[in-house]
Amino acid sequence: MAIHIDTPIQFLKGVGPKLGDVLRKRQVETVSDLLEWYPRGYQDQRACCSISSLEVDQHVSFQAQVYRVNSVNIGRSRRRMHEIIVSDSTGKISCKYFRSPYRGYFERFSAGQQVRVTGKVIEYRGVKQFQHPVVEPIEDTLQEENKLLPLYTDTEGINPGRLRKIIALAIESLIENPAPAKLDVPEKFRRPVGVPDPLPDWLKDKYNLLTKSKALQLIHQPPPELGEEYLKFTSNAQKRIIFEELFWLELHLAFKRAGIVKEKAYQLQPKMEMVQKILSTLSFELTSAQKRCLQETITDLTKPHPMHRLLQGDVGSGKTMVALLACACVIENGYQACVMVPTEILAEQHYKNAKKLFAPFNIDVELLTGQMKASDKAKVYEKINTGKTKLCIGTHALIQKEVQFEKLGFVIIDEQHRFGVDQRLSLRKKGISPHFLVMTATPIPRTLAMTVYGDLDVSVIDEMPKGRQPIVTRKVFDNKRSKVMGFMCDQVKKGRQAYIVYPLVEESEKIDLKNAVDEFENLKLQYPQIRFGLLHGKMKSAEKETIMRAFRDGDIQALVSTTVIEVGVDVANANLMIIEHAERFGLSQLHQLRGRVGRGEHKSYCVLILGYAVSEESKQRVEVMERTNDGFKVSEADLEIRGPGQFLGTKQSGLPGFKMANLIRDLKVLQLARQAAFELVSLDPELSRKEHQLISENIKLNKDKIVG
Ligand code: ADP
Ligand code: MG
Repeated sequence: MAIHIDTPIQFLKGVGPKLGDVLRKRQVETVSDLLEWYPRGYQDQRACCSISSLEVDQHVSFQAQVYRVNSVNIGRSRRRMHEIIVSDSTGKISCKYFRSPYRGYFERFSAGQQVRVTGKVIEYRGVKQFQHPVVEPIEDTLQEENKLLPLYTDTEGINPGRLRKIIALAIESLIENPAPAKLDVPEKFRRPVGVPDPLPDWLKDKYNLLTKSKALQLIHQPPPELGEEYLKFTSNAQKRIIFEELFWLELHLAFKRAGIVKEKAYQLQPKMEMVQKILSTLSFELTSAQKRCLQETITDLTKPHPMHRLLQGDVGSGKTMVALLACACVIENGYQACVMVPTEILAEQHYKNAKKLFAPFNIDVELLTGQMKASDKAKVYEKINTGKTKLCIGTHALIQKEVQFEKLGFVIIDEQHRFGVDQRLSLRKKGISPHFLVMTATPIPRTLAMTVYGDLDVSVIDEMPKGRQPIVTRKVFDNKRSKVMGFMCDQVKKGRQAYIVYPLVEESEKIDLKNAVDEFENLKLQYPQIRFGLLHGKMKSAEKETIMRAFRDGDIQALVSTTVIEVGVDVANANLMIIEHAERFGLSQLHQLRGRVGRGEHKSYCVLILGYAVSEESKQRVEVMERTNDGFKVSEADLEIRGPGQFLGTKQSGLPGFKMANLIRDLKVLQLARQAAFELVSLDPELSRKEHQLISENIKLNKDKIVG
């Protein structure tokens, strides 16, 4: 029987019902799925080297013998670290794993067994080792020399040798000897011959890309002389597949972008009178980065299409001021503006700032949060609806259906990563194509920004207000805690204030961690001379408000808190941030928390206290914090440690799962794919040309998969 790309997998020779079931469970249903089961790497049977000759940073592949397999708990946590120590006649080296590549991975090895190790040599504390290398038992039957053996993931229940065979069969019957087209069948019922290639020839020519079928074939059967390229994922075959994966993403962004450009916006006048007046009342001058970003924003407001801009800037760089000044321009033009923020505390803080700024102009600024009394909310709804309120600042409460603006011209979302795509969209729908500005203090590496925010223009505040000193960050272990608290007492005596942050509100039965409520009580007993306050997310908003005000006014000297203070809270006199169980926090969270200090003229400190159960990864995170204050560097390190999937969270970013592409490794390909996608959209915006038909079908097919 003729094999097509959509032939169900069990009809492939050598598969049969049993293997068919196993494959289907793994979502390999058709021949095409099988060919898209890409090798995660290759076993390089060409290379040979001895353990004693390994050099740091070298990518190597060599044969060795298993010496011992260890598995130990990391500190007191339930997480385990695995280690395979391998040896040859020249020495031993350890292969470390902080997570298991797949279930049963380590059970496959026993002392004395011959294996091949493939990976990058690294140095940790002066000792050479591997982290997460590929270790494969050497199968006798596959002892072919001079070959790159593809390695597949998730092969549970499938013999790797057999898998390679059926893939070879699929390649043979689909790519090498494809069934001829059945010309007696009417064209619309004809099934495609071989592997259809969605990318048109002009694009492949221009970007130097292989055909899809050639790429697929080579990926599963790489030529040994190009081993190096395949191991590094830089071969033409791999680039072709990676290009296509990234191309779909960029094409989606390119269309979204094109759609926005088509929308009509309220075209505003560049009225700057109010902006200038506000500026003259400030006690500081805008940094030149702020001025530039404000200018970019106002220029957008005066264009015929809605602004769609991201304002990026490290914690404390002064994004809010830029946003509020842009609001002034919108309001002067007679439109309403609103700002949505993720927490009540932050909403209240922005509200206060805004009220103060706009007070001299008699402009009505309102606050809207979920915890307000229903009658108060109703009053705000009314004022928004009649257009009396010119600026409304609030939380998610802003997207309730009762909120109807009279003439909403400008929507701002602060800390946008805290909101889902839907929430951002529903707020935007409150106006007719309003101008749209999102702000984030999670500086996402530029490389990723263009992917995730590929449909946005980006303004970056890359400069801190004058006079800010870098924050000194140190990690200490739990046994030095009392020393840290002593340091806190000194600072308080000097008139400063401190935050002490805990991962939990209350004691938890499951995990043995210090929590805010208990420690608040302990600290009060231990240091009666200090006025402590307690703040956490389970408190009523009025309580939180009272505490925050007391802290701002200096009545509370040390604020014991959970991460509710993570976002945006601004008290310039606070110069010490103590984070307990710092190992429990992610890098961007740590950076956000640290950003609460270093806002005034005083030298600021951040102390990260580590508990006992500290994984290698947590230690790495904390060391990044010690090394740099720069949010971009922090986020790049974060991306490296966690990988793009976890870094962005697939849900919030709308990133599809890639089968081969890797956003860090494949940055260059990403740039090309982006260029190609935008080119295609301007060339054939309706995708009506015949050569773009497969692209058009693919987009329709995948419409629901990509959001954002
Ligand atoms: P972000 O939201 O970017 O983290 P904020 O907007 O909260 O930062 O600003 C942090 C603090 O810096 C605020 O108190 C703000 O009033 C102040 N600020 C903003 N711009 C400047 C400036 N150019 N010079 C001095 N202080 C500034
Ligand atoms: Mg902010």
